Amino acid sequence: MLDSSVTAIAAKVRAGEVSAESVTAAAIAQIAAIDGRLNAFLHVPEQSALAQARAVDAKRARGEAMGPLAGVPVAIKDAICVRGVVTTAASKILAGYEPAYDATVIERLRAADAVILGKTNMDEFAMGSSSENSAFGPTRNPWDVTRTPGGSSSGSAAAVAARMAPCSLGSDTGGSIRQPACLTGTVGLKPTYGRVSRYGLIAFASSLDQIGPFAGDVRGAARVLSVLSGHDPRDATSLDVPPEDFEVACGRSVRGLRIGVPGEYFAEGLDPEVAESVRAAIRELEAEGCVVKPVTMPHTLFAVATYYVLATAEASSNLARFDGVRFGLRTTDPAAARDLRVMYGKTRDAGFGAEVKRRILLGTFVLSAGYYDAYYIKAQKVRSLIRRDFDRAFESVDVICSPASPTAAFRLGEKIDDPLAMYLNDIYTLPASLAGVPAMSVPCAPTRAGLPVGLHIAARAMDEATMLAVAAAWEARSPARSLVPPLAAAAGKA
Ligand code: GLN
Repeated sequence: MLDSSVTAIAAKVRAGEVSAESVTAAAIAQIAAIDGRLNAFLHVPEQSALAQARAVDAKRARGEAMGPLAGVPVAIKDAICVRGVVTTAASKILAGYEPAYDATVIERLRAADAVILGKTNMDEFAMGSSSENSAFGPTRNPWDVTRTPGGSSSGSAAAVAARMAPCSLGSDTGGSIRQPACLTGTVGLKPTYGRVSRYGLIAFASSLDQIGPFAGDVRGAARVLSVLSGHDPRDATSLDVPPEDFEVACGRSVRGLRIGVPGEYFAEGLDPEVAESVRAAIRELEAEGCVVKPVTMPHTLFAVATYYVLATAEASSNLARFDGVRFGLRTTDPAAARDLRVMYGKTRDAGFGAEVKRRILLGTFVLSAGYYDAYYIKAQKVRSLIRRDFDRAFESVDVICSPASPTAAFRLGEKIDDPLAMYLNDIYTLPASLAGVPAMSVPCAPTRAGLPVGLHIAARAMDEATMLAVAAAWEARSPARSLVPPLAAAAGKA
């Protein structure tokens, strides 16, 4: 059952061919069989998941209309609030925090008759590209457990790749959906900034954060996106646009669509095998009738520096709320009882991991008097130039194709002592985040060692439909279509 797509599962549940309860039970069994080796889930509230599934079955039995995700189990990144379910953003500072409300995306999933399966592991506060910044140990890549599944939505990617869930939610600030999708051979999509409500997402960098889906195929990601998107007055940056059915774009002809290929994305640091796999995908799209053109995006080189100034600045402000007063961890050090500032300091010192501290310090520095103009304001200006690169490119092309990550999955431990090398891993995903445009990763031919590679497709703001049409056209021809990691396949047969 879990080899089936989101759309196939929903169709079978709606038709009464399988019960929602049996689908959720299968997901729970797969988690029990293999997650000990992967560490993709932080928390699986089994009884509540099964109860939700039974409620879907009961609804069907009463003859009521079924939602588009009827009986589909969805794994949720631990940065997204689910009422009554421990939500920590993989940080010790939020130990034991149980939100009193559902994020808007969770409300929407429930209204679509989906089942909230559990909370997935991630880099602490979504800061990282490997899962190694989780306070609860790294997630492992189902294709090779010595390697990272990418990050920061590590568990959400690994869960879908290893068939523990047909789809999941992640959040993407600078690549945290697309890079792990790439490294695990799943489809991962970051919507246009403002397309999906951020209400109930634990904030990292609010001008960049966006929730989006992972799924085993493009159509599944499109269906989940249709459910998630739409205006929400509780998020001031939510766009007031009419709802769209993104699934209709999958299967649409791509004949005549123009694909831009930026030379700046095929440069130093790109693994030649990854480059060849991505170029092969672009050639196939050309054979489907797309017109491939070179484009130039001259400010690409500045994206990493710009992002790490702006994202850390916003994070230093957002994370100031974690002070041990209202929720999560509080220091038990007796010195803290006498002085509020000592209590804040000791709580934050004990609760935040090393990378989160590094980012708070960097962000506080770039916002401080005397450096604000030199770093923060300058980075805002460069962000405008990067956005302009996209505007100019989209005058002559409809989508931009590139690698999603410069290498296939790297080994756990390989970059952990070198933050700069880790930051450079985001080079292909950061520009679309800074520009606010939609972008996704779709699997292409794996490397000779059998590791997944991702084609990155970016489109104009609000044009997810064209992006999905190109993604679906490629997927139909992709040699990576329906590859299953051996570890997941073996468990399925047992
Ligand atoms: N890897 C990037 C970072 O560490 C992006 C993270 C994200 O998109 N949340 O900030």
